[in-house]
Amino acid sequence: MRLTDGYTLMHEHVTIDLSGVKGDEDCRLDCLDETIEEFRRLYAFGVRNILDVTNLGMGRNVEYVRKVSEKTGIHILTATGFYKEPFFPDYVYTKSVQELAQIMEMELNAGLKEATGCDIHAAVIGEFGTGKNRMTPTEKKVFDAAAIAAKKTGARVTTHTTLGTFGEEQADYLISHGVKPENIIIGHMDLSQNMDIIFSVLKKGVNIGFDTIGKTNYCPDAFRAEALRQIAKKEMLSQVVLSMDITRKSHLSYRGGIGYSYLFEKFIPLLLKEGFTQAQIDMLLKENPRRILLTP
Ligand SMILES: [Zn+2]
Repeated sequence: MRLTDGYTLMHEHVTIDLSGVKGDEDCRLDCLDETIEEFRRLYAFGVRNILDVTNLGMGRNVEYVRKVSEKTGIHILTATGFYKEPFFPDYVYTKSVQELAQIMEMELNAGLKEATGCDIHAAVIGEFGTGKNRMTPTEKKVFDAAAIAAKKTGARVTTHTTLGTFGEEQADYLISHGVKPENIIIGHMDLSQNMDIIFSVLKKGVNIGFDTIGKTNYCPDAFRAEALRQIAKKEMLSQVVLSMDITRKSHLSYRGGIGYSYLFEKFIPLLLKEGFTQAQIDMLLKENPRRILLTP
């Protein structure tokens, strides 16, 4: 795995299709030209790497992603794994934990050529996760498989929590199944809007995602900025990564959404106004992703 020097967004979807299960065409993010346009703006803001956490069952499309990468110069990392109920492919219910782990290991080690025709390797396991305040037996099975594959390959794992719930349980579960805390990112923790839970997760030594920035209908950005201030005060900012988790056509600017560049147009200026330093911004967007993804 490599990273280009520059900012890295740690939880995005270049293309995704959850429209079937959700029954909403908006959840098929497939506007290639507009995405390319938005990624060129990201490049201008200094973004050089994007971790695309779209996996099996979420409409992962590596050919599409490659086009976006080639046209924009942004290096895009691909994921393997399975999301959460009810978005699992049918075979997740019938295959064993070992077989699911083998699929992930194959995509990490041998690569995706056989499955997709593209000569790339999955870079991480994710996003896999849980529903609100619960982990179903099949989600647990995916966690078991992800832990096995992560232990065997050393791959980083990045999770989905629903509204920040079950983050503590996810971290405990993965650590108790042998995944190193520093190799874990617990996602969407900003949406918990609860500093006790956020610090409880951080104290386990894992990393967390403040990765729904700009989704102000779920959580105001003022909370995110204040939470980051408190985390910085406790010297735990090195365990946080940032992203926006764009998943819908209506999130893009051509549809009147906030667009992929919102983080740089609005949120970073907000942090700077609140007294954050450029060194702290660089820690969140450069150093932390690099350490988490590339430390041997
Ligand atoms: Zn998610």
